[in-house]
Amino acid sequence: MKTIVLASNNKHKVKEFKEILENQEILTLDDIGFGTEIEENGTTFLENALIKARTVSAYLKEKNLDYDVLADDSGICAIALNLEPGVYSARYSGDHDFKSNRNKLVENLKDKDKTAYFNCTLVLYHMDGTYKVSEGKTYGKIIEEERGDKSFGYDCIFLSDELKKTFGEATSDEKNKVSHRYKALKGIKEYIIKN
Ligand code: IMP
Repeated sequence: MKTIVLASNNKHKVKEFKEILENQEILTLDDIGFGTEIEENGTTFLENALIKARTVSAYLKEKNLDYDVLADDSGICAIALNLEPGVYSARYSGDHDFKSNRNKLVENLKDKDKTAYFNCTLVLYHMDGTYKVSEGKTYGKIIEEERGDKSFGYDCIFLSDELKKTFGEATSDEKNKVSHRYKALKGIKEYIIKN
């Protein structure tokens, strides 16, 4: 079994990654004592994932710990809004409030096509500075009324094309079979286990 540090403390994301990567030991930022806020000032998902991965990897090096780091950046992209909010999904309304971010997205999509996708860009970063990237997308429609209270973020207004229900109504097993994180991880899972 291999130990990987996940560059996140988002408990929903950590849960999803742990469920999908079943047999690997996953440490969170809390587990390694990393408490600094990482400024995600990149303009692409890949830039932000690399910022997280490099910051955490440098921290591990200082502590003489030799672990790979798994960093992701994810968000929701609405086709009619030129892929907004994209990398700004977590702070679309100006702060990190899920409800006001959802309201802003619904408002901005009034009378527009509601097609959107979640994107996850995942980086497995090695201590020598090399890394591998994988991306996953999952498509759906943004709906006006919130449905379901499972999970987080934009889930309750994202009607999944594959599940025919919102991610907020889906069980974690259902979401994990079609989610952007699942698809990104699927593309890199064998590599993670072997390398
Ligand atoms: P990150 O933590 O910087 O990747 O920010 C991702 C933001 O995108 C989150 O705060 C959520 O608002 C949104 N997001 C990403 N993945 C999901 C998901 O699976 N469901 C709902 N919202 C998500």
